[in-house]
Amino acid sequence: MHAILLLAFLALIGCARTESYQVVIQSGDFTREQEGQIVQAMEAWESAVPVTFRVHIDGCPDPLWNTVCVRSVPTIAEPSGAKAYGRTDMHDELDYSSFVNIAADTPPDLFVKVVTHEMGHAQGLVHHGAGTLMYATTNTDQAAAPTEDDIQQWETYRR
Ligand SMILES: [Zn+2]
Repeated sequence: MHAILLLAFLALIGCARTESYQVVIQSGDFTREQEGQIVQAMEAWESAVPVTFRVHIDGCPDPLWNTVCVRSVPTIAEPSGAKAYGRTDMHDELDYSSFVNIAADTPPDLFVKVVTHEMGHAQGLVHHGAGTLMYATTNTDQAAAPTEDDIQQWETYRR
């Protein structure tokens, strides 16, 4: 009896520790290569923190709990007028429901980094200092994958 309770308890902890998201890549928006790079961006997060992404290529649904839609938009302008390659719109009423918008004119060599950064926002992260993935500007001060600092922010956000 005690053994069964202990196993049930451990199973519960196991479930609580790994977050799971459904990710829908808007069908027709990206090339095959870009779709592969979007999956690469998910894998960068999966290898850094306890998260799993179930990726589909489909029509994006209306905002859904724990569902991220990755789609292409022609261009993204910041309120300041500055050019941006990505923007994540979080849905206020639903946990981790967001639209990850990637500008169609994102340079190919920055594509994976932009998607990985935006997936950070989709998981609740905000901009951080130079040397991190969550650094606001896509330049050499922005890391290409989650750093210790980004992982710490991810964990702190969930405490
Ligand atoms: Zn950002």
